[in-house]
Amino acid sequence: MSGERPPRRPATRLVEAGRRPEWTGPVVNPPVWRASTHLYASEGERKAALGGNEDGTFYYGRRGAPTQWALAEALTELEPGAHGTVLYPSGVAAIAGALMAVLHPGDVLLVNDNSYEPSRNIARGLLKRWGVEHRFFDPLDLDAYRDAFCERTRAVWLESPGSLTMEVCDIPALAAIAREKGATSLLDNTWATSLGFAALDHGCDISVMSLTKHVGGHSDLIMGSASAGERWYRALRLTAQQLGQVVSPDDASLALRGLRTMGIRLEKSTASALAIADWLATRPEVAHVLCPMLPGNPGHTLWQRDFTGGCGLFSFVLKGGDDAARARLVDSLGLFGIGYSWGGFESLALPFDPASIRDASPWPRTGWNENDRLGIRLSIGLEDPADLIADLERGFAAMKDL
Ligand SMILES: *Cc1c(COP(=O)(O)O)cnc(C)c1O
Repeated sequence: MSGERPPRRPATRLVEAGRRPEWTGPVVNPPVWRASTHLYASEGERKAALGGNEDGTFYYGRRGAPTQWALAEALTELEPGAHGTVLYPSGVAAIAGALMAVLHPGDVLLVNDNSYEPSRNIARGLLKRWGVEHRFFDPLDLDAYRDAFCERTRAVWLESPGSLTMEVCDIPALAAIAREKGATSLLDNTWATSLGFAALDHGCDISVMSLTKHVGGHSDLIMGSASAGERWYRALRLTAQQLGQVVSPDDASLALRGLRTMGIRLEKSTASALAIADWLATRPEVAHVLCPMLPGNPGHTLWQRDFTGGCGLFSFVLKGGDDAARARLVDSLGLFGIGYSWGGFESLALPFDPASIRDASPWPRTGWNENDRLGIRLSIGLEDPADLIADLERGFAAMKDL
């Protein structure tokens, strides 16, 4: 057909996606359409709009307007195999909304043990009250995972690399087993984004992202998304509408702005993270570097097989030491902020201690020295990596002197 566009590579899609002329008008970006009421030209037009619950149909502000539609469409175009994308006011709202779209009382949910802590809390709190049981499984133990299924297992919650501890899971295998057992697989794909890991192409049913991280990219907005093929997209959309989930057009506009440069930001922060991880691996203060992008690191083989890109987020574990020494290190950093979130243009450092929140996988890991347990997660931003290394070097010096 003459109107059909040729296929585009991801970098080009990042620039073009969602920019329909009827949404942008004569300018490059869709304006911020602030709206609760949408006005109809006639009663006939109002009635006609009742039929189609679709992005692109004006109805009422809770169903969004062109700014939100453009963002959702851009995310759909970037996720191979997706029919549509639902936006949520935060990544956590996307996780809760997607799980509620899939699960019913009496169902069992499997959760991988390295999942983002609020995801675990949704299973333990909201879903439990809702009559859904959960079991945590070791993300690196396929046999234990297969054994964890029962008659009532309806969904599996996956995340790879895992939050804080960065285990790379064999997602194609985990998703295939879920499918074989009749369960829906949902992946928290915040780390890689659809640019670095094509979740649906690798067998997952629903791909969830916190847009707060790489898509926003500037530490100034909170938002989430879930993308899926047609069947699950419908279920996600209806559940989100019944929960009254909307995002503001101002934030959608910021997210679109972030999205346009996401590719080059990810490339730059990946390269810097590799240089810094490589340097950390040579330091006597460091017991383990947990950076799956680095050859020889845990998870690298799977990462190389399945991923098409990385990002600036990885962790390392100190050799011995105590909490006070780790605090001296982090407190002395001048370029790394101390704080939650990641994926912004600025670097962050976050101490972590997962031992107390694990159910199915040990920390420190099997085979490690028991004393090597103090973790620090780094989110590498767009600074010069040589300056970041110099900053960390000062941190290690401060850690030692009392
Ligand atoms: C931050 C984060 C979320 C939650 O995102 P918010 O937008 O902060 O609610 C979900 N998953 C992962 C892996 C995250 O790091």
